[in-house]
Amino acid sequence: MRNPFRLIRVRLTLWHVLSLALLLAAFSGGVYFALHSALQDNLESGIESRSDVLVRLIQVENGLPALPLQLPPAASNGDDSDDELEEELDDEQLILIFDSSGALLLDTSDPDEKIPSLSAEIQPVIAGSRRWLSVSGDDDTFRVLAVPINRDGITIGALAVGESDEDIGDTLESLTNIIRVAFPVTILLAAVVGLLLAHRALAPIDRITRTARQLSAKDLSQRLDLDLPDDELGRLARTFDEMLERLETAFQRQRQFTSDASHELRTPLTIIKGQIEVTLSRPRDAVAYREVLGAIGEQSDRMIDLVNSLLLLARADAGQIPIQRDPVDVAAAVEIAIDELRLLAEEHDVRLSFDGQAATITADLTLFHQVLFNLLHNAIRHTPAGGSVQVNWSLGRGSLRLEVHDTGLGIAPEQLPRIFDRFYRVDVARARNEGGAGIGLAICRWIVEAHGGSISAESEVGAGSTFVVILPTG
Ligand code: ADP
Repeated sequence: MRNPFRLIRVRLTLWHVLSLALLLAAFSGGVYFALHSALQDNLESGIESRSDVLVRLIQVENGLPALPLQLPPAASNGDDSDDELEEELDDEQLILIFDSSGALLLDTSDPDEKIPSLSAEIQPVIAGSRRWLSVSGDDDTFRVLAVPINRDGITIGALAVGESDEDIGDTLESLTNIIRVAFPVTILLAAVVGLLLAHRALAPIDRITRTARQLSAKDLSQRLDLDLPDDELGRLARTFDEMLERLETAFQRQRQFTSDASHELRTPLTIIKGQIEVTLSRPRDAVAYREVLGAIGEQSDRMIDLVNSLLLLARADAGQIPIQRDPVDVAAAVEIAIDELRLLAEEHDVRLSFDGQAATITADLTLFHQVLFNLLHNAIRHTPAGGSVQVNWSLGRGSLRLEVHDTGLGIAPEQLPRIFDRFYRVDVARARNEGGAGIGLAICRWIVEAHGGSISAESEVGAGSTFVVILPTG
């Protein structure tokens, strides 16, 4: 069985319950101590006011302090009745009067309480200082305020007024009982609710996991397609679907690339094999063999070019082609490319020309040369005899604009957007005879974009085409 503590929902709930328990404990403790101190203050202020009244009421009889028989209501700590002394003082209150030697003159406490003698504690009071005492009887503990009784500047005794703190104990005990029940019930409820909430919130993750498990590399067409709100999990599911989309496209492109490349290589290999078979079918003279070997050499060159291009694209895809950035003289680079293709242009009876201001850009010279070569090569091949190919360039704001213009066949508008795709050829039969595999422009696009530039084409069927390259100068 799976360890439940490895589930996020269980761990979340545990943390939630633990923090709630700590908070509740701190809160309960705070309430307990605040209530305790408020009740204690209340008790003491009641005792104090009663003591203040009593000490003023005390009369002197035979040189000794004594209480009048009847006490006014104030002495009963707010009680309205004006009954006799005994009724005023229930067994939770006590009044003690001492003479100046510390001998007990009056004790109103319940005899059953057996209040201990306070003679020793009362001595400092007779000496002039009031003090709080805690006195334990048999049943209750009393909070007692002892004050000196002064008449005409002389201390004639001491008065001790006390009240049992039983009520405080009872109130705090009730509170403790409430907390004792409420605490575990709250924690239990929090755990159940927390677990349910966590389960609900994390349910989409289970759905994502289940769907992801069903996906295989072969069938990347599946999507999660979860109808989730735009929250964290919704975004996760959508990001996952987008990633699948990209993976599917990349896989498809990869498959297409492999099949196109194999197809392109099969054509020259089939031609070579056919020529060899035909040639070997009967004896031939040296001239015939030379001719065939020449044709085979041509097909081999085509394959070498193709394999080099494929390799370049594969390495470009893998990010393995480092781009060396050096200052490149545009005019010089154009001139070199034109020189290389002059013979081909003469064969096609196509006029080559170039024009542009002095311009230097920072680029990889070899790759820039490849772009110029591919564009010029295409332009010459697709321009009928008597036509012309022209290269123009100018510097704009931080960029070079280079155009290769031809007066060739042009490209149909519906084909124009696809000519930069790999292995795309406008007229397959014609292009193959001319040696094109539909990779030249794909390579141009990769090179230009790798330099942070862009490439596009404008064309009119029958009038010619213009390929525009924009490259940043820096
Ligand atoms: P290829 O190596 O087969 O020429 P490219 O990628 O260079 O492949 O070009 C793709 C297609 O674009 C070609 O099949 C060709 O028909 C078309 N094309 C390229 N340049 C021109 C041009 N200057 N004029 C007319 N068509 C062109």
